[in-house]
Amino acid sequence: MSDLNNFKNSGSQTKAVHAGEPPDAVTGAVTPALVLSTNFAVDPDSVSFSANDMPADDVYFYSRWATPNLRALEAKLASLEEAQDAVVFASGMAAASGLLLHLLKSGDHLVISDVCYAGVAELVRQKLPGLGINITTVNMSDLDALKAAITPGTRLVYAETPCNPIIRLTDIAAVARLAHAAGAQLAVDSTIATPIGTKPITLGADYVIHSLTKYINGHGDALGGAVIGKHEAMTRLRQDILIHAGGAMSPFNAYLILRGAATLPIRMKAHEAGALEVASYLERHPKVKRVIYPGLKSHPQHELACRQMKNFSSLLTFQVDNGPAAARQLSHRLKIFHYAVSLGKQRSLLFYIPTEELIRSSFTLTGAALADYKAYAGEGIFRVSVGIEDAQDLIADLEQALK
Ligand SMILES: *Cc1c(COP(=O)(O)O)cnc(C)c1O
Repeated sequence: MSDLNNFKNSGSQTKAVHAGEPPDAVTGAVTPALVLSTNFAVDPDSVSFSANDMPADDVYFYSRWATPNLRALEAKLASLEEAQDAVVFASGMAAASGLLLHLLKSGDHLVISDVCYAGVAELVRQKLPGLGINITTVNMSDLDALKAAITPGTRLVYAETPCNPIIRLTDIAAVARLAHAAGAQLAVDSTIATPIGTKPITLGADYVIHSLTKYINGHGDALGGAVIGKHEAMTRLRQDILIHAGGAMSPFNAYLILRGAATLPIRMKAHEAGALEVASYLERHPKVKRVIYPGLKSHPQHELACRQMKNFSSLLTFQVDNGPAAARQLSHRLKIFHYAVSLGKQRSLLFYIPTEELIRSSFTLTGAALADYKAYAGEGIFRVSVGIEDAQDLIADLEQALK
């Protein structure tokens, strides 16, 4: 089972339903059984005690290595991303931190987007320098700045597109060319785009990272993460980090995420349709100063969005005067939207993110980088994750709450 990119000639809806889920070989069950066992009876000749001599992928040994439910999810993710293999982790942060620690050692240079998921931004700025890893943060939408940031010592370029929370895009194919020309690899956090919108491997990325907690599970009831890439690279990541750092996903979460992923393509259509309507409504609202959504013509990178995203997903931001007061008003008045963090759930969510706080706590931006952040986010943004409810109900909810 070395190439998990199965259902190669099928469409995303077929992959989402079938990849990684053949009928059970013993019972014929067409829905995967939940296998909670932590260990597996083995043939003494086919396994060894050390992760360095890991058995073949489909020989199970101990559940921190692999289990049937996790392997099924890995197969579905590899198929959806048109990649060879995947490793799932207990959370998106476990996946992102695992890949960084796996690839980087003291003296290596990392170039990373100056705006990315706050947890990753804080890990990179606060933890990696102490391990001797050199960091350069750069606005990945500025290819000249990226070119200047990459040095002969650059081992990895790490991008996130669209990036959380300001929905700025990165041209994956262009960044892959620059990274590879310098001998570096490219990792792309594609959580917001999902494989229904963008398949970074097909555009030249070496690794894709997902928080499965978001759209791929889609129901707000399981944490999970994944790294997706070449088979040999995933085997090394499994041995070096999954097994040794130990951030393994529980089989039950894999079962839930596998079930959620089956409807990813049709949910993404509903998410996108709802987000387009909500974004257009907000753009017309007299109290709203600015809306950022890749599917709107007004997005500063709409042309790149059309080229790179087959689905614009459902994360958008809007700005109003006196954001903190509006946040209090909306949190009290909204009846369908929940005032809560996170994204990519069936329910619509909204949360206010003040620029000053994020710049101070997570991103520490100054000069041109700060100016570009403010060009997208002003003094603060409402980050909206549009769910799959009826758009007319979401708009009516916003209408009464914004009065
Ligand atoms: C949520 C998120 C993460 C972290 O994932 P968790 O599953 O919460 O650990 C990483 N990247 C992006 C873009 C995210 O939105």
